[in-house]
Amino acid sequence: MPRMLAPAFDPERFRREARAVVDWIADYWQTLEPRPVRSQVAPGDVRAQLPPHAPDEPEPLAAVLADLDRVIVPGLTHWQHPAFFAYFPASASGPSILGELLAAGLGVQGMLWSTSPACTELETHVLDWLRELLGLPERFASSGMGGGVIHDSASSGLLCGLVAARERATHLQSNRHGLTQTDRPLVAYASAAAHSSFDKAARIAGLGSEWARRIAVDSRGCMDATALAAAMDADVAAGRIPCFVCATVGTTAAGAIDPVPEIAAVTARHNAWLHVDAAWAGAAALCPELRPPLVAGAEAADSWSFNPHKWLLVNFDCHALWVADRTSLVQALATRPDYLRNAATDSGGVIDYAEWQVPLGRRFRALKLWLALRMLGAEAIRGRIRAHVAWAGEFASWVAADPRFELLAPRSLSLVCFGLRAGDAASRRLLDRLNAGGTAFLTQATVGDRFALRLAVGAALTERRHVEAVWAELSRLADEAAQTA
Ligand SMILES: *Cc1c(COP(=O)(O)O)cnc(C)c1O
Repeated sequence: MPRMLAPAFDPERFRREARAVVDWIADYWQTLEPRPVRSQVAPGDVRAQLPPHAPDEPEPLAAVLADLDRVIVPGLTHWQHPAFFAYFPASASGPSILGELLAAGLGVQGMLWSTSPACTELETHVLDWLRELLGLPERFASSGMGGGVIHDSASSGLLCGLVAARERATHLQSNRHGLTQTDRPLVAYASAAAHSSFDKAARIAGLGSEWARRIAVDSRGCMDATALAAAMDADVAAGRIPCFVCATVGTTAAGAIDPVPEIAAVTARHNAWLHVDAAWAGAAALCPELRPPLVAGAEAADSWSFNPHKWLLVNFDCHALWVADRTSLVQALATRPDYLRNAATDSGGVIDYAEWQVPLGRRFRALKLWLALRMLGAEAIRGRIRAHVAWAGEFASWVAADPRFELLAPRSLSLVCFGLRAGDAASRRLLDRLNAGGTAFLTQATVGDRFALRLAVGAALTERRHVEAVWAELSRLADEAAQTA
């Protein structure tokens, strides 16, 4: 006799177990502070504690949670820790996590409007809200030719922008797609300080690394628009087609902001696509007083993007991409097989977001953005961004006032790059010692040709006292790090 199938959905059991998991998460947040920020395990330590084979028989949730505590948590770097100042933040919030849970609970696929109309319409709507909150130009609103879409990451947003640009530069209004043997080389441009996803996108889109040009930056790390113009002119003279320019608003190393209006003027001369990557800094445009440099030139951009999952209190993954005209994006990515045909698509009156992204299937990511915006309210999010910027400003002033330290770039929003005057080796030792202590976690960047420690304030649980504490610790370790090892 075959056993009865155990139900995968047992609402009563789910109620009970979900409460236990939610309690586990709330306990985790409450006990984060004393934990070492960065995982202390060595490669292989986690797997060595896991059984070699998957179980045949069901195990209780309690056993899994026990292993979560015993095996998994020690192998975590705690990104929500209040003293997490590394990379860029991945700031989550209770409401966004509830949205994530709802998305999983509903389990719908939003690839086409018809596969779950609310999934598409909420996304379009929430991105219209967000466009307005950031003060982005009307051309990115869904009421015109443009609109917004949620991707997993800024890397995907950039890739889709590049693919749309490639389509526009080659065969818009033809039935061919992608590159053909006979096309002249297409060239893409970004600054030397732009994110590495630019190079990855050029490889994936088929341009190749040879035609992904890195343009020189000035001493602050901002793209030199004159050098861009020269590179584009030279490519045209050599018979190549300048196709795509990625401007960065808030570089990953030091938060530098490219001169987007000047870049836009150069880009327009060649009819190339202008993409703005504001992955981290874009969130600050929510605050009107911080906005002007962040959205400058946006009215000339073909696509503009940022990561709510970095600094807008929405848990990973949530990347917002707006396009001014969706035609070439859809032309590049739409496939329309018979098995997906439906009257709504045929009518041309709906958005099918599968045609705005690489995968076919898609999660209901708009829910977490919707819950975060509604349950926190824009004003509370602004308040937190302002606090982070203010604390980073104080931190930068402490660095500047201490003769052992120096700022290696102007503070950008909530990001401070600094080092020891004793030199790069000393700065490196300081970072290693700080991180080995476990009370805080910072990462490094190369700024100019210097090794910089990078303090990025933005974790949702961070308070001013955590910024003060990391400064106290850095000051305490500075003298010993400055002495040669
Ligand atoms: C973080 C970052 C990215 C990459 O973000 P993902 O969403 O992880 O792909 C791209 N560009 C900039 C400027 C970034 O800071």
